[in-house]
Amino acid sequence: MIDILNECNYCLNCKLKPCSNKGCPLNNDIPTFIKYVKDENYEQAYKILSNTTVLSGVCGKICPHTKQCQGSCVRGIKGKPVQIGELEALVFEKTVKDEKALYNCYKDEIKETNKKVAIIGGGPAGLTCAAFLARNGVKVTIYEKYNYLGGLLIHGIPEFRLPKDIVELTVSNILKLGIKVEYNKELGKNIFLNVLENNYDAIFLSYGANNSSKMKIPGEELDGVYGGNELLEYKLHPDYKGKKVVVIGGGNVAMDVSRTIKRLGAKEVTIVYRRDRKQMPAEEKEIEDAISEGINFLLKSNVVKINGLKKVESIEIIKTELIKKEGESREVPVNIENSNNVLDTDFVVMAVGSEVSKITYDLGLDLNEWGNVIINDKCQTSNPKIFAGGDLAGIKATVAFASKSGKEAANNIIQFLCS
Ligand SMILES: Cc1cc2nc3c(=O)[nH]c(=O)nc-3n(C[C@H](O)[C@H](O)[C@H](O)COP(=O)(O)OP(=O)(O)OC[C@H]3O[C@@H](n4cnc5c(N)ncnc54)[C@H](O)[C@@H]3O)c2cc1C
Repeated sequence: MIDILNECNYCLNCKLKPCSNKGCPLNNDIPTFIKYVKDENYEQAYKILSNTTVLSGVCGKICPHTKQCQGSCVRGIKGKPVQIGELEALVFEKTVKDEKALYNCYKDEIKETNKKVAIIGGGPAGLTCAAFLARNGVKVTIYEKYNYLGGLLIHGIPEFRLPKDIVELTVSNILKLGIKVEYNKELGKNIFLNVLENNYDAIFLSYGANNSSKMKIPGEELDGVYGGNELLEYKLHPDYKGKKVVVIGGGNVAMDVSRTIKRLGAKEVTIVYRRDRKQMPAEEKEIEDAISEGINFLLKSNVVKINGLKKVESIEIIKTELIKKEGESREVPVNIENSNNVLDTDFVVMAVGSEVSKITYDLGLDLNEWGNVIINDKCQTSNPKIFAGGDLAGIKATVAFASKSGKEAANNIIQFLCS
């Protein structure tokens, strides 16, 4: 726990605000909200944050602060940065949790229009787009596959990192802006783009990309090989009690799924990653937490094969070295010949990346080589009436960046509707 007053006083209230302008994808006015926290005026602090974000409670908890806001804090040059994430989370605790600040503080200012927008997928990108459109008087309907909103905030990031009451309160506040939701509506199954196109003035696609990528190595089809994203989303875990599990990857999914599996009773969970610790995409804090919970790390190791007759029995690993290559921004892992060894395991979990769902290929939109929907600088797809954002559009896979893309799309949709 931080000392709030000390932390607020520690903020230099810099003129150039690199934490906001450079670090925070949403450009939250960090020094100003901290100034209000110092005065214990949490409602005003919340209002300042709400000018630029609708996910402050969530971002306070799980943004990669050391890479984003705190990574640009001037205090961080010579010492510890201001603990911006903790202060942001505190504002949410002191306001929304106490029902003291509501998004419908904007409601009075809204001038209704007759424009209608459909949003497909109610995760961070869709929710943010919906909120900023609704604040501008646009009639918004979110079509969501499940009977709840929040996307990966609910079915990706585990409760031990992001308490679900924060997400539920955030969602209910956003919906108070008068947004309609059609639950249990899945694009490509019981709703279709051509039908929506006829009924709405614009569409925002934000249904994410939560399908585990494959490594395309022998043995991936064996029983006992799972995708990390699917394990977290559908919670169809096998019985891990007394078993060994290998998780391949070094990002959020690898950390969250390995810690979840350990909690579900696995005897041994080992993360295998082909680069070293400092190159892991996961936040340092998550890595430290995983280590303290007893997760093993096998670094600079590449899995080349999964062995077994019908079911996984072991994996074959080869050691890697990191080599600087021309044209590459960071060192690349290269297998070291004849350094192979075999590791016994009962289960293998793939956490090497996430992909879009298959329906994306049937939408008739231009896609990039990984299947992400291509958007222009106005967030428009190859169909000008259809906009896209968040993980689906391959935006840097963090909550704040997904939210930023939703906000930008809302602004661009408004311009499109007015043209
Ligand atoms: C395990 C895990 C941990 C993570 N940890 C962090 C973290 O600590 N910090 C961080 O900043 N980021 C983290 N991320 C990344 C972050 O969660 C995502 O970048 C972000 O949620 C993307 O938002 P989105 O709105 O684009 O997609 P999503 O959050 O995936 O939301 C998509 C929504 O669309 C719905 N949907 C899907 N298909 C359809 C369909 N066909 N029709 C209708 N609706 C549909 C889904 O149910 C969901 O509600 C993590 C991701 C994972 C998987």
